[in-house]
Amino acid sequence: TWDYAPAPESRAIANLKPSYRMFVDGQFVDGGGEPLKSINPATEEVLAEVATASPEDVDRAVKAARRAHDRTWGRMPGAERAKYIYRIARMIAERARELAVLESLDNGKPIKESRDVDVPTASAHFFYHAGWADKLDYAGYGPAPRPLGVAGQVIPWNFPLLMAAWKIAPALACGNTVVLKPAETTPLTALVLAEIIQQADLPPGVVNILPGAGDTGAELVNHPGVDKVAFTGSTEVGKIIQRSLAGTGKKVTLELGGKAANVVFDDAPLDQAVEGIVNGIFFNQGHVCCAGSRLLVQESVADELLAKLRTRVATLRVGDPLDKNTDVGAINSRDQLVKIQELVASGEAEGAQRWTSPCPVPDKGFFFAPTVFAGVSQAMRIAREEIFGPVLSVLTFRTPDEAVAKANNTPYGLSAGIWTEKGSRILWMADRMRAGVVWANTFNRFDPTAPFGGYQESGFGREGGRAGLEAYLDV
Ligand code: NAD
Repeated sequence: TWDYAPAPESRAIANLKPSYRMFVDGQFVDGGGEPLKSINPATEEVLAEVATASPEDVDRAVKAARRAHDRTWGRMPGAERAKYIYRIARMIAERARELAVLESLDNGKPIKESRDVDVPTASAHFFYHAGWADKLDYAGYGPAPRPLGVAGQVIPWNFPLLMAAWKIAPALACGNTVVLKPAETTPLTALVLAEIIQQADLPPGVVNILPGAGDTGAELVNHPGVDKVAFTGSTEVGKIIQRSLAGTGKKVTLELGGKAANVVFDDAPLDQAVEGIVNGIFFNQGHVCCAGSRLLVQESVADELLAKLRTRVATLRVGDPLDKNTDVGAINSRDQLVKIQELVASGEAEGAQRWTSPCPVPDKGFFFAPTVFAGVSQAMRIAREEIFGPVLSVLTFRTPDEAVAKANNTPYGLSAGIWTEKGSRILWMADRMRAGVVWANTFNRFDPTAPFGGYQESGFGREGGRAGLEAYLDV
């Protein structure tokens, strides 16, 4: 841990450079696209100018990845690949402080989260997958599986480094090579990861990182040299990608949006549940695909729980992401802030009762005070659409059957939470809720050993655990 650092020092700690180049075939190079400006969402200042890829750059990167796959990485014994992946894991841990500050500057998330969650979990993903690399060669896994080839990977802005780790680590462990496009608002930590990969001495072309906007992502996933597409982002773009890949032989996994139900029964320890609800929706400003954005509370305890919840939420500190006491940082972009405001206005217009935390909110930068809507009905937009912000919609239920029906009344199905003292009820509910992850008496717990992924419009395919490897192997 470290003390709060005001902006100038934080730039030095983050080793912030005025400009960043993209990483292709083992080298940092200029891009043929229009450079983008990465903004600090907490101050609205430009952090750095970042090169972006043209279609020719995408082609060059995919070809470099193909060569690396055919000549080095795809032919290397797993035990050798493991050494490189362990090295990446250690180097992330060694540069943890720099990466955490850079992530908070670029993304707006509180430093205590980038420090305690994003960076260590990214490192853990490389450690975990390094451990698999040499176990895949032999019969222990089944028939010796083979890598798919070149993976084209596109990631969102909510966990920039962590999503890059989720994508790159399993691909490398299985012997695939990678071309990854970070999100346009948060490209910086992926480029530091590229530096780590270069210093870890991976053969050129094994990993290529190409910043750019959606058009670069489309160029990448549709490139004929890409064998496997891994996408994390909105359901809307996931559907576009799925349509565009129909009729190709490419394998695809999609990790998309969510509208998770966090279900609290009357026998739950309410104070503990309140902590889980707060973590579920206010962690990372609610920019979490598996955020517990719909609270379903049993009617008999609804008033008591809501009162406790408001008291607790009012203590959350909103503000400077680099202050280690901050609980809720900046919304990642103006566009996202506008989207949240619009959905909150719809909740008011449709008759839900809005409560906003009285906490002070900075006037500069993109901030939004924690908000809780009571009296929400299932038909309202705030109960159906992903807000992807610090806004909770509260609904009530009477019976477990009604809780299941309401929890499943969504086109999504990424995650869910259950709060109850009864173990039998946890199993009964988990069995009936259509969600890829069900947490019991906790929320937002991530571990590389546990497969993560969705049902229905939350996408398909799993990341993490042994199931996550299957997305990168042919058996
Ligand atoms: P987004 O879909 O707008 O963008 C995601 C990425 O896709 C970005 O890198 C973007 O540049 C790129 N992109 C945009 N159009 C593209 C196209 N036509 N072809 C290829 N790439 C394209 O999503 P976002 O706003 O960055 O992220 C928020 C969304 O991501 C939320 O819906 C959230 O639930 C979801 N998400 C899901 C998971 C998960 O694991 N299921 C994790 C994090 C975020």
